[in-house]
Amino acid sequence: MARDTSDLVFCALGGIGEIGMNMALYGYGPANKRQWLMVDCGVSFADDNLPGVDLVMPDTRFIEAQRKNLTGIVITHAHEDHFGALIHLWPKLQVPVYATKFTAALLEAKRLHDPDAPKIDLRIIPSQARFTLGQFDIELINVAHSIPESNALAIRTPAGMVVHTGDWKIDETPVIPPTTDAARLKALGDEGVLALVCDSTNAIRDGRSPSERDVAKNLAEIIGARKGRVAVTTFASNVGRIRSIAEAAMANDRSVVIVGRAMERVCQVARECGLLDGIPDFLSPESYGFLPREKVVAVLTGSQGEPRAALARIARGEHPEVTLAKGDTVIFSSRTIPGNEKAVGNIINGLVRQGAEIVTDRNQLVHVSGHPRRGELTDMYHWTRPKIAIPVHGEAWHLAEHAELARSLGVPEVVAAGDGQIIALREGDTKVVDEAPTGRICLDGDVLINASEETIPQRRRLSWSGAVSVALALSEKGEIVNEPDVKFSGLPVRVGDGRLMDDVIADAALLVIDSLPKPKRRDPDAVELAVERAVRSAVNAVWGKKPVCHVIVLVV
Ligand SMILES: [Zn+2]
Ligand SMILES: [Zn+2]
Repeated sequence: MARDTSDLVFCALGGIGEIGMNMALYGYGPANKRQWLMVDCGVSFADDNLPGVDLVMPDTRFIEAQRKNLTGIVITHAHEDHFGALIHLWPKLQVPVYATKFTAALLEAKRLHDPDAPKIDLRIIPSQARFTLGQFDIELINVAHSIPESNALAIRTPAGMVVHTGDWKIDETPVIPPTTDAARLKALGDEGVLALVCDSTNAIRDGRSPSERDVAKNLAEIIGARKGRVAVTTFASNVGRIRSIAEAAMANDRSVVIVGRAMERVCQVARECGLLDGIPDFLSPESYGFLPREKVVAVLTGSQGEPRAALARIARGEHPEVTLAKGDTVIFSSRTIPGNEKAVGNIINGLVRQGAEIVTDRNQLVHVSGHPRRGELTDMYHWTRPKIAIPVHGEAWHLAEHAELARSLGVPEVVAAGDGQIIALREGDTKVVDEAPTGRICLDGDVLINASEETIPQRRRLSWSGAVSVALALSEKGEIVNEPDVKFSGLPVRVGDGRLMDDVIADAALLVIDSLPKPKRRDPDAVELAVERAVRSAVNAVWGKKPVCHVIVLVV
């Protein structure tokens, strides 16, 4: 009988080495005939390195080529870094997507908001569901996190079981249940866990996260002590936090006004799913101005300094309905994501100038993370007792600290995986067996482009040193018919010695054409190339930067 060469393999197309664009693949079967399962399909937000780009997502060409063997996509929870790419990438994959009710409802709400969004084959599964996709037997396990209905997955195959934690923390007293299902995770440990693929976000932090309930208590105290208006900004998806704010408002006889479209959308979905039962209806921004100052709590989008969100517009005094004044309070019930500090700082300064008092998580417990610190990670390892640990969902530092912790807890094999590595999970012999192509796809306007294409580097160069266009008319003999026509963007008009940049460019063009031998002058391509080089170098000589240069030669 032939030896069964079926392996269980793990391959991340995104989400290792960064916090964002999570996309994991599990494969089972012989190397040439694997079945695949995708877990999560997330985005990252672009930074200054990708000018003009909003969203970044994993390059899926590896799994697109294997689409026939892709059994489905399971979404662990409705954070953008786990499901935000579905609308953009699903048309390339076109396999069923499995999600629980709240996640599915948020996806549907997002889809309706976007006229170009595809109709996704979405299958709603109950919490704690157990179902099979091809050779994969999948079980959802409740975990606490900063959004409702977060799930860890137990993925069973004939080659063993993987526990894929998704994003999680331990919270014995969450505002919206359930808690992390320790009993189930222990039972999986008893059954035998081959590999644990686990959240590393807070692996550099000792101890345990405080509970959402502690934040709720503090918010109620702070709001209770204020006389003026209170505005609270938080992540729109944190329904538990919104519920805490609403409960605090209720206890202090204040009405809740929701400001910002993303927040309105999540609140509507949360109500439909029963997550805001017992909370009075929220008011729309139009009511804000009519409420007595001591009777209102505004819940706002824009905690990360997003310039078009409600909070930024209020800070600039540009919001049509919501204003703040001396005696009012703004609570940042959020953490500033690294990279957003400056934008958030600008907003705080604007609010302080308007007289508002600011409360942040620097001086009060008004926010907790939804990710496990080292104490919680330790519990997860004790519960599941995996043979193999694969830290994911973290930057290099988080992953390294997580790996070190797993080793110190006695996990026999700890794998420092990278995006694209196809890792065979074999007890005692776990190794990289192949490599999948990976990369980053950018949503640039309405078009998906590959980050490695020339477009983005070109745009970076344009933002640094501008662009010059030179149009020339030559006769068939190669004689200049007209003065060169010069246009430029983003260059200084005059250079240090007082000359006009226009003249510097035109002179350089004329001089180089003069110097070309006759036969070359009759070749428009050769002239274009020579003029481009000469202009770039002449501009560099007077300015110290080389612009992008376009030369068009017309033969008349
Ligand atoms: Zn995440
Ligand atoms: Zn999350």
